[in-house]
Amino acid sequence: MDKKKIVVVGAGITGLTVAYRLLNSGENFEVIVLESEKQTGGKLKTSHFAGALLDEGADAFLARAPWAKDLFDEIGISKEFVSPASRSASIWVNGSLQPLPSPNILGIPLDPDSLPSILLNSDDALKIKQGGKPSKAVLEGSDISIGSLVRDCVGDSVFELFVDPLLGGINAGVVDEMSCETMAPQLLEAARHKKGLIAGLKKMHQASDPQAPIFYTHPNGMGHIVKKLAERISESIRKDSNVISINRTNKQWVIETKTGSEIADAVVLATSAQDAAKLLTSVSPTTSSRLSAIEHASVSLVSLAFKNSDINLPKDQSGFLVPKSAGMLMTACSFSGNKWAHLDNGSQTLIRVSSGRVDDQRHDNLNDEELVKHLLGDLAITLGLDSQPLEFRVTRWPTALAQFKIGHLERMKETFDLLADESPGVFLSGSYHFGVGIPASVRSGNEAAVSVIEKFGIN
Ligand SMILES: Cc1cc2nc3c(=O)[nH]c(=O)nc-3n(C[C@H](O)[C@H](O)[C@H](O)COP(=O)(O)OP(=O)(O)OC[C@H]3O[C@@H](n4cnc5c(N)ncnc54)[C@H](O)[C@@H]3O)c2cc1C
Repeated sequence: MDKKKIVVVGAGITGLTVAYRLLNSGENFEVIVLESEKQTGGKLKTSHFAGALLDEGADAFLARAPWAKDLFDEIGISKEFVSPASRSASIWVNGSLQPLPSPNILGIPLDPDSLPSILLNSDDALKIKQGGKPSKAVLEGSDISIGSLVRDCVGDSVFELFVDPLLGGINAGVVDEMSCETMAPQLLEAARHKKGLIAGLKKMHQASDPQAPIFYTHPNGMGHIVKKLAERISESIRKDSNVISINRTNKQWVIETKTGSEIADAVVLATSAQDAAKLLTSVSPTTSSRLSAIEHASVSLVSLAFKNSDINLPKDQSGFLVPKSAGMLMTACSFSGNKWAHLDNGSQTLIRVSSGRVDDQRHDNLNDEELVKHLLGDLAITLGLDSQPLEFRVTRWPTALAQFKIGHLERMKETFDLLADESPGVFLSGSYHFGVGIPASVRSGNEAAVSVIEKFGIN
């Protein structure tokens, strides 16, 4: 039987998913994964820090989105997962830390009476009470920005106090420009409720199990999960193999690395959009320029370890978010030991501080010491911290988080179709496709594997 050879470029969670799915498809495929780094996992990276195993990038994934959980169930690691010990987070508002509204969905309070009245504009509180009806119908299949939908339904103060800091912090982006269809489709669905957005969100909230975990991680870090996935396909993985170019030869593809080349029937680029754009410059220039046009934010993550007696954190909180309007470098601070019981070792207090947004790249112009100094200044203001850390570690993630503008999913579909015409046998997947999170990356990997199987499988 004619064996098809598939090369996957990139061994982050997306590329590993593609390869795992192809190798378990029952098709007669030879799969090679080429990874430029000496380790697999990409942005899922766990390392030793202050006597603990701490994540340098993603530290958890959404439990309620199915794709990642399903994959991890399949590889048999889910039973080891843990969920946050503390579920409450705060927001830095008008010079103090305020708890996020409870209950809320994506920061939108479902009950205005649960909030201190000084926070919410009284007109906006009334809009929430009345159901948050949009001024015009939210049509099926159309996209608008999260900002415009939330502002329209429940007012500017709800958006600026809660939704913007939460989603803008997580995605390092501008929420007024973010595609609701890509980043928060549940808001579009809720806004179609006859009584409005809040009525739709309340219905969703009532249908969900309040005790169900929101996030999962592994006590040995996210790097451990991805290591277990990589172990399932270890014979296919070639580390330290940076792909320099891909070129067509008859009906096949030549994938060149610094040490040699592979000839394959299909190539799946499971890298960032920019890395895929570079590899497609000569074979599919239009796809390449479309991918280059996707804006990305660079972020830095600083891990800090303090003597317990030197830092006093609110015990029931997992961390806090800082809105852009506060002007700080810090976008979020996670209290790792409060959030995860396995990181509460009793001797030191670990926190992770994020900086960087697509429209605020000040962190990039600071060296590590300067960055830590600035962030300690922000912590002095927000937490009253006046001591130095025992240890710190700075992890830079250049152009790491794709920004999803209105109409993103439609543009992605056009881009994928264009590539299929220009370069049949080359496929795309990654965290710039359906969304930046781990479940969305796994979903993109699943879909790329399905596309390869449809074209090259025989079963
Ligand atoms: C600081 C930070 C915190 C985050 N927190 C969370 C979180 O808590 N929860 C969540 O769900 N998501 C989070 N994310 C997002 C999530 O981590 C990523 O979206 C996801 O891991 C992306 O996986 P990927 O495989 O698509 O890309 P990557 O992890 O970037 O993997 C791509 C791989 O391709 C390789 N590569 C690139 N070019 C080439 C080439 N030419 N040849 C060979 N190999 C190549 C790279 O070395 C890399 O290993 C976070 C991201 C960051 C930066």
